[in-house]
Amino acid sequence: MKKIEHIGIAVKDIEAANATYNAVFGSKHYKTETVKSEGVSTSFFKIGESKIELLAATNSESPIAKFIDKRGEGIHHIAFAVDDIKAEIARLENEGFKLINTEPKEGADNKLVAFMHPKSSHGVLVELCQEKSPSPALPKGEGARN
Ligand code: ZN
Repeated sequence: MKKIEHIGIAVKDIEAANATYNAVFGSKHYKTETVKSEGVSTSFFKIGESKIELLAATNSESPIAKFIDKRGEGIHHIAFAVDDIKAEIARLENEGFKLINTEPKEGADNKLVAFMHPKSSHGVLVELCQEKSPSPALPKGEGARN
């Protein structure tokens, strides 16, 4: 894993939370995005090299709705950037960790993502994320490491 890519915070009301964090950070979120498959609306803030992702449920079946029901608003996950998400999933499974997603899936912010089960990591939901290549035509292994 390369670095912390972002920290995800579960919130009830994305508009209210945007206003709160606009004030906290002194800067506005730079994008919002709805991930239909996950039932979440998200917004992203950039703080130096780091990002904060706010997540609100768009329906009651959303994992964010369930999280807030159980634990209330607050830090939901920590996302780590990886170069090769499939290789990281395989490595972690090999180490005996339980993955929620054994195949990468489409996440917000142009990422492929996979979550590790929080029971595997002392209660922290870990997200792996790999930047999707802007040009999928690039041969594997070239241009990926500049
Ligand atoms: Zn995330």
